Amino acid sequence: MPNSRKTALILGDGASGTIMANKLRFHSDLRQLEIKVVGNSPAHYFKPDGVMIPFGFKDHSKSVKPTQFLFNHGVEYIRDTVTSIDVQNHKVKTINSGEIGYDYLFIATGDRFATDDLPGYDKAAQHFYSLDGALRLKEKLAEFKGGKIVVGQASIPIQCPPAPYEFTFQLEQYLKLKGLREKTEIHYIYPLNRVFTMPNVSTFIEKLMDEKGIVVHKMFNVDSLDPDSKTLSSLEGEQIPFDLLILVPPHKGQKVITESGLADENGYIDVDRNHLNYRDYDNVFVVGDATNLPISKAGATAHFESEYLANRIASEVNGNAFFESYNGEVACTTITGGQQAITLFFSYNKPPRANFQSKSDYFLKWTSSDTYFSAMLRGIM
Ligand SMILES: Cc1cc2nc3c(=O)[nH]c(=O)nc-3n(C[C@H](O)[C@H](O)[C@H](O)COP(=O)(O)OP(=O)(O)OC[C@H]3O[C@@H](n4cnc5c(N)ncnc54)[C@H](O)[C@@H]3O)c2cc1C
Repeated sequence: MPNSRKTALILGDGASGTIMANKLRFHSDLRQLEIKVVGNSPAHYFKPDGVMIPFGFKDHSKSVKPTQFLFNHGVEYIRDTVTSIDVQNHKVKTINSGEIGYDYLFIATGDRFATDDLPGYDKAAQHFYSLDGALRLKEKLAEFKGGKIVVGQASIPIQCPPAPYEFTFQLEQYLKLKGLREKTEIHYIYPLNRVFTMPNVSTFIEKLMDEKGIVVHKMFNVDSLDPDSKTLSSLEGEQIPFDLLILVPPHKGQKVITESGLADENGYIDVDRNHLNYRDYDNVFVVGDATNLPISKAGATAHFESEYLANRIASEVNGNAFFESYNGEVACTTITGGQQAITLFFSYNKPPRANFQSKSDYFLKWTSSDTYFSAMLRGIM
């Protein structure tokens, strides 16, 4: 049946693109569906380890693998950059491989740091949101002898909303281990009138911050940054001087998304939240951080989204019925300091419950790069 063989094209070779490709391969027949991935990352970095690497709590050699070896048999990986996406004519343009057509398109291009949006950022701020950033920060922390550290995020949305509080708890523990806690003030800024988006989790986290002597600044929406006086100012009129600023950079979707007319200047694509289709295109889907879904921006979200889409498309290609929808399901483990963590389960209709932290949850998190590379990315869990 060579003439009826369909092509699934996946844009992006990060968490979402890789899980999507491998899960779709797992569920579909090689003779009925060919799967191509276009992506431009030679190395695949497990970003959650960014809350451990700056403190030496984990060695980064376990956090990176060569991208091309992460795709299962039957997935064609094309190392290239997508320069335009034409959903009306079912094709994309790339720098080296020309035009590539498709029957089904999955956009999984994630997002990017938009540090130009905050003048002074590159000069005055550190972050832990990329491997380079985490390693630079590790050097800065090794030189740190005490003072005032401000931690937070430059804007909303960001990848993994819990990561700033996870990092702050790890920082507190690190300073204790180094004998610097008494000499250091930790200030945590957050743009809402709580310390995390989800109210129930926020109450739990705020109590822990209080117990650990972390100073919280709510309703702090970053407005400007003065690298010379080392001062961070908010839209609300508050100013905080710092010795070390650890600020998650402003995020935006990829330029190719905006330039292809799929999103506004923020670059995040609106999708149907239960079916993940782009507008009324029944063959165009968006997975992971590239979407505009409020619940998204986590590898765990991409994992559940891919499971839904892979089953749905495999059923369609096989000519079978499929009645399920994606309900916003996510499970994610977040560190709360002192080798403790909490695991949150939630969906669109079910808010998470944060009741207790445990050491076993912490070790679940600590070992998650192994689970990720060996099972989750491979599409077998
Ligand atoms: C510090 C930190 C901690 C985190 N902790 C957790 C956690 O505990 N749990 C969790 O679930 N999530 C966590 N996350 C979030 C998680 O890592 C991201 O949500 C996930 O990586 C998103 O995957 P993605 O594939 O959508 O985007 P990305 O991983 O960014 O991948 C996008 C890919 O597309 C490629 N690409 C982009 N544009 C183009 C183009 N034009 N042409 C070709 N290729 C292109 C890029 O090179 C990249 O490889 C964390 C993130 C950070 C930064």
